[in-house]
Amino acid sequence: MKRRTGQDRSITQGWRPATQAVRGGTARSEFGETSEAIFLTSGYCYDRAEDAAARFAGEQQGMTYSRLQNPTVEMLEQRIALLEGAEACRTMATGMAAMTAVLLCQLQQGDHVVAGRAAFGSCRWLVDTLLPKFGIATTTVDARDPQAFQDAVKPNTKVFFFETPANPTMDVVDLAAVCGIARERGIVSVVDNAFATPALQRPMDFGADVTAYSATKMMDGQGRVLAGAVCGTEDFITNTLLPFTRNTGPTLSAFNAWVVLKGLETLDLRIRRQSDNALAVGRFLEGRVPRILHPGLPSHPQHDLAMRQMVAAGGIFAFEVEGRAQAHALLDALQLIDISNNIGDSRSLMTHPASTTHYGVSAEARAEMGVTEGLLRLNVGLEDPADLIDDLDQALRQVGL
Ligand SMILES: *Cc1c(COP(=O)(O)O)cnc(C)c1O
Repeated sequence: MKRRTGQDRSITQGWRPATQAVRGGTARSEFGETSEAIFLTSGYCYDRAEDAAARFAGEQQGMTYSRLQNPTVEMLEQRIALLEGAEACRTMATGMAAMTAVLLCQLQQGDHVVAGRAAFGSCRWLVDTLLPKFGIATTTVDARDPQAFQDAVKPNTKVFFFETPANPTMDVVDLAAVCGIARERGIVSVVDNAFATPALQRPMDFGADVTAYSATKMMDGQGRVLAGAVCGTEDFITNTLLPFTRNTGPTLSAFNAWVVLKGLETLDLRIRRQSDNALAVGRFLEGRVPRILHPGLPSHPQHDLAMRQMVAAGGIFAFEVEGRAQAHALLDALQLIDISNNIGDSRSLMTHPASTTHYGVSAEARAEMGVTEGLLRLNVGLEDPADLIDDLDQALRQVGL
């Protein structure tokens, strides 16, 4: 029956990623709709009381309550798992719900975590504030250096947690080396892969155990909804993550799941075009601004590593001007590119991390991770790059660069 081929792993696993992105996970209702249906329902009905009992006992397949399962949400989870090359995926209401769940579900008092110090502001808050509050010790390291992870390991280290490329400094982590160190010691490596997405980088191909996503970013890709996801083995998702999420409830809404399903259909097209556009804009800025942090440019110290583990460098990069006053003046002078702290949007957006996304991170931690007062992060969208370059050119002139 073709209605459900999208859910048959024996068929979908053989599909290439472009096919999985459009059809993976699709389960059609009795109406045979072409585009996936949105099931806006909180509950489910049973023909007989015995059926309800059997479903709660796990003896009968089927849904019981949308905090636990929903047909639209499951379609998205299957599609992401296929693209990731993971056995299983569970989605969450936001990227931060995914990061919180993936850490708390497997950690307890007395454990230790080693985390990359360059990270999204709220991820740093989890590591610096939330985990220690519950008796989980954390060490932050320069994740560009695999040896730093090795040196930070203690007998009670349970998790390595890092982003690559990292927000907003574009530090690149050697996935094979760091995940290899984790594997050898029985430590779970958790990779926040929001910037690259499985379209550009599949951390599990390099030995990562778990990947976590803000699907708000490139997966939605059009700045519409918040969503998150965690991918791992069937055992990890079912036995470690699910007991936590089913009972704490960071569930993704069916409507938001549907929006991200539609986003995934064009993910590969968008992210490749945005990578090309970001390279064009990066080449223009190189030499024009004091410093540029773009792993797609040969001038980036980790360019070779980035190109070994990524298909392309993505649409996001950072650059530096002289201090906060010039950074804010440059933002104010832009006519086309919006001032916005979001990323992964089809629109070009620029932000000053020190006063926005990383405002909540201590000044010392900001300095340590390279979030300087002159740093600007640019999300390059799907506009014509020549228009973006024209806009940057006029804005740079206005601030004397
Ligand atoms: C945005 C982001 C998050 C948080 O995701 P939300 O969907 O905003 O909750 C986590 N990690 C990285 C790298 C991000 O860019």
